[in-house]
Order: sequence, then structure tokens, then C-alpha cells
Amino acid sequence: MFTFEDFAGQSAHLAQLQRDFSRHAFVHAYLFAGPRGTGKRSVARLCAMAALCRGEGEKPCGQCGPCRRVLGGTHPDVHTVLPEKDKKWISVGVMRELLETVSVKSFEDGVKVILIPEAERMNAAAQNCLLKTLEEPPQDTVFFLITDQPAALLPTVVSRCRVVRFHPLDIEAAAARLVALGQSEQTARARAQMAEGCVGQALEVDDAQLAMRRDLTRDVFSIRRAGDVLAVVNAYKEDKGRQAQTLDALEAAVRDILLAQAGRSSLDGAGYAQQAQDYARSVPLSGGLALMREVTRARMMCESNVAFASAFEAVLLKISEEYAKWPW
Ligand SMILES: [Zn+2]
Repeated sequence: MFTFEDFAGQSAHLAQLQRDFSRHAFVHAYLFAGPRGTGKRSVARLCAMAALCRGEGEKPCGQCGPCRRVLGGTHPDVHTVLPEKDKKWISVGVMRELLETVSVKSFEDGVKVILIPEAERMNAAAQNCLLKTLEEPPQDTVFFLITDQPAALLPTVVSRCRVVRFHPLDIEAAAARLVALGQSEQTARARAQMAEGCVGQALEVDDAQLAMRRDLTRDVFSIRRAGDVLAVVNAYKEDKGRQAQTLDALEAAVRDILLAQAGRSSLDGAGYAQQAQDYARSVPLSGGLALMREVTRARMMCESNVAFASAFEAVLLKISEEYAKWPW
């Protein structure tokens, strides 16, 4: 089981939340906002456990019946609101049904907890329906609106919530956290960097993504002359499903190269091929910036239906040009 301490550094309000929920001193609605993978859902679940816990000592104990039921997703007073099956949006119908449920007494004679893990999926009607409830909140009920897109919520809804922001960790801290969670030390930094410090996302990075990062940067930054370009374009243009991922991965690589060129971070252990490190070392910042402009343009070209091969080729030619300018 996670504890509040496990999310240290991802929000400034963790200790306060634990105190407030353990003492039943919480407000009726919280908005947990921050990038995907920064602990929002897990912390909301911990708050629910702390509010419902019947254990002795520090809450949540993780051992008592209510704690275990929250962990197992079977607590009858914890409701999770999701879009209906195969629907993108949480409709007003779903919301009305929920609000009816919470208008009755709790099953276990305690607090009722409403989790809305993708709050941005509430359409305007659903948000307005929720708003009425937030304006006259039922007793002993706490709402958690959880989102990585807080701008999708009506300002009137946001203003009824206590906003708690969540943040990514810095790369080193995220890597250390991954190791503490049992990930291998060899790949922890690469995963942390790929997920930009969002630990939850880093846990989802799979070996294929790591392999792609290494192989792509090896192939792309091996290019020294214009004559090297075609073979690489041909190797990547066939797999249509991965074309967008290729540009995403390249953009992430170039961004990290820029940070390395600017002396802000190192590429060591980040899962890139040696060739990417060579580019960062032998080409100055201006070359990294020129390459970033080219990658951005390639993405725009692909979005306006220019063939991937042409867009990718332009990026690779830029790499050969930059190398030619700085031949030492
Ligand atoms: Zn407990």
C-alpha cells in the first residue's frame, strides 16, 4: 500500500490533506490538478481511506476493514464516476444517478466519497448538475475532481473546490522513486526522463519504448552526410503505425539534447544512444535549436498530410548540415 509519504514532492499539501482527512476536517470538494502520473488518484484514494479508516493511530492504517475495502475497490460508500461504456463524456444522466445515490444515507455509517478521476470528461450539462450539488453539499460527502486538464472545467465548478496542485518530480528524484518501487537501476533514469518526472507515467514505460529511444537516436544521429539520409528514412517510413511515435520520440530527444547543450542536464543514463551524446557535444546550442525548429515543422507537415518520409527527411538533412558546420 502507498502512504502519503510516497508522494512527497508531488504536492505541497500532502501533510495537510492527511491531517484534515484523519480528523474529519475536510471540505466538501477538492480539485486535484496536475499532469498525468503525478499521484492524484492515489492520493485521493488515501484521503478516502483516511476519512473512512477505523484503525487506531495514524490514518489510514491500511489494515482495518474499511481501508481494505477502499484499496480493493469494494467500499460501498466510495463511488467512482466514469463515462458510460463506449462513451467519451460523462453525461448528465450519469451524474443525476450518482447524486441520487449520495442523497441517501451511507452504507457504513460514515463519509461518502465521490471520485471523478477524469473530471474533464464531464460535459457542460453534467458539470452544471454537479455544480448545484456543490452549492448545497450533502452532509458527510466529499467530492474529488481529478484532472490533468483543469481548463476543461467550468470556472464556477472550480471555484467551489479546494484546488490541490500536483507536480512531476525532478528526474533524479523520480528515478530514485522508481528504484524504491522495485524498478531496475539500469533503466530507472531513462524511464523517469521519458515520463518527464511523472512517476506514474514512468511506470508505464515499457521495454519497447526504451528500445525505440535507443535505436532511433542511434540511427538518426549516426547521419554525417546527406548521402546517409535515405537509408534511415526508408527504415522508418514503412511502419505507418509508428510514424507519429517516431517524431514524438525524436522531439523528446532533441529537447533533452538542448538541455544538455545548455548545461541544464545530462544525457547520461537517459537511455539515448551514444550518437545522441556525440551530437550534443559536437554541435553547439544553435544547432540544437535549428534541429528543434525542423522537428516542429515536420510535425506540422505531417498534421497537414504531407508524407512522413518528406517531413522526416528534412529533419535528417538538418542533422547532416549541422554536423558539416562543426566538423571537429
Ligand atoms: Zn484503516
